[in-house]
Amino acid sequence: MAALRSKILVVEDDPGITTFLKTTLTAEGYDVLISPTGGDALQVVCSHCPDCVLLDLGLPDMDGSEIIRSMRSWTKTPIIIISARSMEEDKAAALDLGADDYIVKPFGAIELLARIRTAIRHTQTTAESSEIGMTGILRVGDLEIDYRKYRVYVAGQYVHLTPNEFRIIALLGKHAGRVMTYKAMLRELWGPGAGVDNKILRVHMASIRHKIEPDPNQPRYIFTEVGVGYRLLEPGESTV
Ligand code: CA
Repeated sequence: MAALRSKILVVEDDPGITTFLKTTLTAEGYDVLISPTGGDALQVVCSHCPDCVLLDLGLPDMDGSEIIRSMRSWTKTPIIIISARSMEEDKAAALDLGADDYIVKPFGAIELLARIRTAIRHTQTTAESSEIGMTGILRVGDLEIDYRKYRVYVAGQYVHLTPNEFRIIALLGKHAGRVMTYKAMLRELWGPGAGVDNKILRVHMASIRHKIEPDPNQPRYIFTEVGVGYRLLEPGESTV
């Protein structure tokens, strides 16, 4: 555990969940701040600069999505949604507004702690600023994306991808470890006029998986978050 304790702000009005989170996070060495309302949360974000915000969407004074919108106009502090809403549209909407991750209640301590570590690490060193920026190469497991030569290798073997396939995997690589929504991917790849039909992504993804995954039906590198988007394995995450 690093000497400097990370501060976590929990924005949640359910006392049972608040108690669980405070106990769990304190035991892990985090400093924990609690805000039971959205208005209070925005003040605490300004005054205490937390390292990560756990945000319930259903708050007594406002919808959590308003907090994401407000925070994203001035800070990149990671936001993890903790919500009982498990609908794909809710997840995609929160991620598109700028949330970093989304956990559906009920969730376990181990999963939560892993997500927090990932979110905080991403703000400290984004994939783009660290490995890719220094070497031009991203390695996750046996997969290697060479951003300077526009090439992809699996276990040292060159994999022929079409230009669009390379752009897709390169984009996911720059956000490795995080879900990119279909909407965000379409916008990044084909501009604001790209539309919302993600069929083109599915077609390309099937081809990419066929080329890079040992078993395309059990992906090891690129995961589908059904109805939400795709996530490339994070460097250091185990390939099972
Ligand atoms: Ca609530």
